[in-house]
Amino acid sequence: MTKANIKPKEAILVSACLLGHPCRYDGKSKPNAAVRELSKAYRLIPVCPEVAGGLSTPREPSEITVASSGEKVYNKRRDDVTEAFVLGAKKALAAAKANGVKLAVLKARSPSCGAGAVYDGSFSGTLREGDGITAALLKANGFTVITEEDLICL
Ligand code: SF4
Repeated sequence: MTKANIKPKEAILVSACLLGHPCRYDGKSKPNAAVRELSKAYRLIPVCPEVAGGLSTPREPSEITVASSGEKVYNKRRDDVTEAFVLGAKKALAAAKANGVKLAVLKARSPSCGAGAVYDGSFSGTLREGDGITAALLKANGFTVITEEDLICL
């Protein structure tokens, strides 16, 4: 019997909500057809940093505030949830490293997953340039991070 030469698929880290997991702050998901399509050619590693960091679902929406002391994350009730966001980011980074991931496809504009643009902390729907806490940590560790909105350009 000949041995099959089956190569493992390359792994991509993906925001779990884009794969249909109901882990968003509102208890819903954001399934994305282009992201799901990636599963045909890649091994998708779903992560939800906010849940991994210990936050419940549903939960209050949160935004990042840039202060002189650095970035803080507050929910709409003004509870400081920075610790949970940082813990979730560390767990996502560990999952990326453990699975040999090079690329992460994360949910646009999320305070955890957003890459390139996030809400400005005023809960007014205003965007600013910047990354979510997890996207920033992944980028700082050499991973390429894009959002589902970039997939159409690939
Ligand atoms: Fe989706 Fe990321 Fe928010 Fe989790 S933290 S619900 S994966 S955008």
